[in-house]
Amino acid sequence: MFRNEPFTDFGIQANRQAFQAALDRLNQQLNHAPILVAPQIGGERLSGEESFTRTDPSRASCSVAQVAFASINDANNAVSSLQQGFPSWRGTSFERRAEILRKAAKQMRDSKFEVSALLVREVGKSWKEADGDVAEAIDFCDYYAEEMLRLGPPLRLGNLPGEENCYFYQPRGIGLVIAPWNFPFAIACGMAVAGLVTGNCVILKPSEQSSAVAQKLVEILYSAGIPHNALAFLPGRGEKIGAHLVQHASIDFICFTGSKAVGLEIINKASVVRPGQVSVKRVIAEMGGKNAIIVDEDADLDEAIKGIIQSAFGYAGQKCSACSRAIIVGSAYEPFLERLKHAAQDIITGEACDSSTFLGPVVDEEAQRRIISTIEAAEKEYKLLYRGNPAVGGSYVPIAIFRDVPTKAKIWNDEIFGPVLACTKAQDFQQAVSLANQCEYALTGAVFSRSPNNLNFARENFRVGNLYINRGSTGAMVYRQPFGGFKMSGIGSKAGGPDYLVQFMEPRTITENTMRRGFAPE
Ligand code: NAD
Repeated sequence: MFRNEPFTDFGIQANRQAFQAALDRLNQQLNHAPILVAPQIGGERLSGEESFTRTDPSRASCSVAQVAFASINDANNAVSSLQQGFPSWRGTSFERRAEILRKAAKQMRDSKFEVSALLVREVGKSWKEADGDVAEAIDFCDYYAEEMLRLGPPLRLGNLPGEENCYFYQPRGIGLVIAPWNFPFAIACGMAVAGLVTGNCVILKPSEQSSAVAQKLVEILYSAGIPHNALAFLPGRGEKIGAHLVQHASIDFICFTGSKAVGLEIINKASVVRPGQVSVKRVIAEMGGKNAIIVDEDADLDEAIKGIIQSAFGYAGQKCSACSRAIIVGSAYEPFLERLKHAAQDIITGEACDSSTFLGPVVDEEAQRRIISTIEAAEKEYKLLYRGNPAVGGSYVPIAIFRDVPTKAKIWNDEIFGPVLACTKAQDFQQAVSLANQCEYALTGAVFSRSPNNLNFARENFRVGNLYINRGSTGAMVYRQPFGGFKMSGIGSKAGGPDYLVQFMEPRTITENTMRRGFAPE
């Protein structure tokens, strides 16, 4: 039976020491030279066409990876290589494919701290966030392996004498997986292994900012037994090789996680049939969020503050599930804001590799500039409740909390993807839910309340993909909280849930009239 991978208990000294030792080893390696990342097609490492240097967001002066970006020619060759590999991988039994995923999960477990250390250095995750990222990837492997064993055996349908109906799934073909940088191990892993375990061949196009973490994932998958011509690794620019492959006639499906703008562009481009194309491209797209947490008048404020701090500022607000709007009901508003301010003042900010850090850097300088200019523009228009002091030396931004924010404000409506929280007051619980729903996204949401009536009202009326009651809006676990939204938050079934794998396959039915009138001699 599936069980979630436990998080590392950093209260245990041996775990802290092992994590620090993994970081020390990586630091030593990086002091010597950055990690070389290269496209891999059919077992061959290629030189690519452009070299990209990824620096540590905590320390702008340190290079983490030297990445060879794939060319359009590499992208075309990747498709050809997978086309050759497809018949054999499709013909591999689903039991064997599931077994490979379980092996991959084991290897990830064995190298947990090594992978986590890379997450700390390449994308600025704190220890705890990095550990959670790896644990989720392990869960995806184990859960999808189990799911494939459930979905693999053909179903016999109907019970009419003289007729046999067989219902089963076949893989779609060649898939393109386009991953974001914010869960660079878990999300890239979940999308890639879902495609692979269902018998498809997959090109993994990681985010520019997290190519070294993705390369580590690919190495583990190859070493667990995924054939080289079933999985191609193509680090590169999204708008170049990503956009090219989206339109490639031989790509059968695209599994994307990222921003709304890019997701909608992919959906649009994938709908155009190109010369030589034989199948209608299926697009699975998980996109952004602008998630609200409602604090009811009778809520336990200690719990609410804890949940909001964690959800709004964990990984510097760079989670699609992050809370970026807080709606507080009636008389709870002022006491809540007072306590929130004090709690925010206590947040420890600094380099991600420091075990005490809660708020590390944002992903890169471009994000830093964008977030700071958003905060500065908002400061001119709205009331600032609190602005933190960012660390220096990397792409750090301050925490910013605004109060009395009107619903027309940009910071109320646009996904900022940084540690920026907009707060507003609702007259009553019904109005709070209505404000929460006034949003183009519908990904996550949370409610803190002690009123059974209000909680029931929220269950029925707070329309988001993942609604949390009396806890924060982040931290969905595979199988326990299948994850994904609707409206502009995406199309597709929830990751880590029972409908997910089916999207990567086509159902077929074979019906035989068994009232044979003898057999022909062979
Ligand atoms: P992004 O959209 O900028 O990039 C995502 C991926 O798309 C990257 O690999 C990028 O190279 C590629 N890409 C960019 N332009 C492309 C194009 N024209 N054609 C094809 N591919 C292209 O997103 P990001 O900054 O990496 O991630 C942050 C976003 O992801 C946020 O909006 C966040 O909400 C969303 N996200 C959603 C979920 C979810 O499950 N709903 C999970 C994580 C992140």
